[in-house]
Amino acid sequence: MPKDMNSNESSRREFLATIASGTVAAAGLALTGCGVRSNTLQRDPFTGAGVALTPPSGEKVKLLSVEGEIIEVDRAYLKPVPDLPPVSNTEARKGIPGKKFVMVIDLSRCKSAKKCQEACNHAHDLHPGANWIKIYPMKDAEHTAPYWQPTTCMHCDEPPCVKVCPVDATFKRQDGIVLIDSDRCIGCRFCMAACPYSTRVFNWEDPGLPADVATQPYSCETSIPQKKGTVGKCDFCADMTRKGMSPHCVSACPNGVFFFGDMLEDSVTNGAETFRFSDLIRDKAGYRLMEDLGTRPSVYYLPPVNRNFPFTDEEQNS
Ligand code: SF4
Ligand code: SF4
Repeated sequence: MPKDMNSNESSRREFLATIASGTVAAAGLALTGCGVRSNTLQRDPFTGAGVALTPPSGEKVKLLSVEGEIIEVDRAYLKPVPDLPPVSNTEARKGIPGKKFVMVIDLSRCKSAKKCQEACNHAHDLHPGANWIKIYPMKDAEHTAPYWQPTTCMHCDEPPCVKVCPVDATFKRQDGIVLIDSDRCIGCRFCMAACPYSTRVFNWEDPGLPADVATQPYSCETSIPQKKGTVGKCDFCADMTRKGMSPHCVSACPNGVFFFGDMLEDSVTNGAETFRFSDLIRDKAGYRLMEDLGTRPSVYYLPPVNRNFPFTDEEQNS
């Protein structure tokens, strides 16, 4: 039956041609992903739907494949690799070896200028009102003078928040910094209940970030972008410390309230003055908040003594 044989041969050729074009289409789509620029439509051999193909440019580029082979790819099928976080998540969770970060807050200098809070909110693109640094008016006794007390996360060495997190989203690093991985956080808020310093903030709302910030790759060292339904808090500006720089609150304070440094080097600085950490704590009677809880905070306070300015609410914006 010659007619039928011809017909079968024709069908087979059509089938092979369709598969061949489908293979090219699949390869083209795999390489270009969403980055299709100039398109032609061809029929998908499996679904019959029209698929967009990028025509080759004719210009070949040599690349190293994941198997370690040199391969040639048409330039039209390349697409830019999205920005990656500056450090891997594994590195961010480990922290910086040989460091033990510590902060000292000199209460005798704080006028509640709130420049630390502004700088922190700006650096972390926080939702308005979701302050990680809080400045409380304090008064220890009836007869004592009031003072301002800035608070950050205490980066406790025995952090209750870490112990209660059910998904390992919050963790303590070898350099002493306690961080949150928002990609893991399920928003249960156990950590908020466990923290005796009320330092954690729940993101009830979307932070309303500009597109360039909202789309940047999340890093638990920068804590950007914050996500609705997760918890945030002071991160000791872990990205800055990795670069050997001070946290934003330290450099923003006009009154030199915040000192930051490495306990292993026994040195802290506010940018203008540098002290031996152990001397500063001993000579100025440094203390930590709620030491009796056994949380062992990494933030120390110097008492509000010898102040040369009055405590007034008007000072808040000076
Ligand atoms: S201050 Fe609170 S959030 Fe920070 S490490 Fe200590 S318990 Fe955790
Ligand atoms: S809110 Fe997030 S970080 Fe806090 S305990 Fe729950 S999962 Fe962990």
